[in-house]
Amino acid sequence: MNTKQKKIQMNQMDKKAIQEAAQILRQGGLVAFPTETVYGLGANALDEFASSKIYEAKGRPSDNPLIVHIAELEALDKIVKVVPDNAKKLAEIFWPGPLTMIFEKKEIVPLGTTGGLNTVAVRMPKHALALNLIKEAGGYIAAPSANTSGRPSPTKASHVAMDLAGKIDMILDGGAVSIGIESTIIDVTTNPPMILRPGFVTKAMMEAVIGEVSIDPTILGDKELNDRPKAPGMKYKHYAPKGDLTIIEGEEEQVIVKINCLAKEMSDKQYKVGIIATDETINRYDVGQVISIGKRSDEQTISHNLYRVLREFDEKNVDVIYSESFQSEKMGMAIMNRLLKAAGHKVIHI
Ligand code: AMP
Ligand code: MG
Repeated sequence: MNTKQKKIQMNQMDKKAIQEAAQILRQGGLVAFPTETVYGLGANALDEFASSKIYEAKGRPSDNPLIVHIAELEALDKIVKVVPDNAKKLAEIFWPGPLTMIFEKKEIVPLGTTGGLNTVAVRMPKHALALNLIKEAGGYIAAPSANTSGRPSPTKASHVAMDLAGKIDMILDGGAVSIGIESTIIDVTTNPPMILRPGFVTKAMMEAVIGEVSIDPTILGDKELNDRPKAPGMKYKHYAPKGDLTIIEGEEEQVIVKINCLAKEMSDKQYKVGIIATDETINRYDVGQVISIGKRSDEQTISHNLYRVLREFDEKNVDVIYSESFQSEKMGMAIMNRLLKAAGHKVIHI
């Protein structure tokens, strides 16, 4: 299959290209497009056959449900049975934006879109191109991250092309995304609502709007835990770079010493070493390919760069990667959740 690529200027959107993409979606095809979180791989969410093509192109396990993207609040009633008060309040504050909510689904949403579940995940993205495309294409676009399953999520159109060129109909290139990690997921069918995946919208931000919010305990847990995460996709090893990633956790000075030691040891054995540093520490490492993931003092820079940095190490063909650890109350949880998965939970505590 020939994959069309269209560059879209965000300040002067090419209506024709969006209409062409919408037409492909209406006819059951696949189009990758940017959102504010990561690039999504879209298909008509109400067409089971179209959704099935997403699983095929990504190599995604069939029990891993898709998020349905909408462009208007009024679109919600057609696909969900009840909109609880908590959800209404959250939507008012955080939609459009990086928050996905889980609802009981109506019949019209095929089980092929929800991985066989009777619930459906819904989000309204904050991205003009995505919103225009969703509206033009009929209002309901299922869109998981536009990467091959298990690879780091795409934050630029070139990442999508690397994984999916030849397997999908079209890529709309709207430049680099702003946030860089996937949406927060909250299940609003329970009381209190439960966070199933951490993201830009934190527990504290939501508690300020609706009161108590719980967290699925498996989020930062070890993969050996017997508990199954409530979001089926969270059980899979994800976001993995090709190099073997280990996270070093502890007091900053000791972490730097330990990473330098490990890097020298592996480099002496002829392994190609990568190091994930921060702007604050990048000059402290002297062996291997050292890349800063952002400013520790501004976590949004870290989420913005995370997947790009993991893919960069793939391009550099490193064998092993050592990373500093990030543990703050705010976005640190979302960052560590992705990094721990990328590392297959390999952590050295010092
Ligand atoms: P992605 O769009 O690639 O970020 O993946 C979607 C994520 O949402 C996966 O982790 C899914 O398991 C989760 N998800 C989607 N629908 C549901 C649902 N109905 N219940 C729980 N988790 C869901
Ligand atoms: Mg994904």
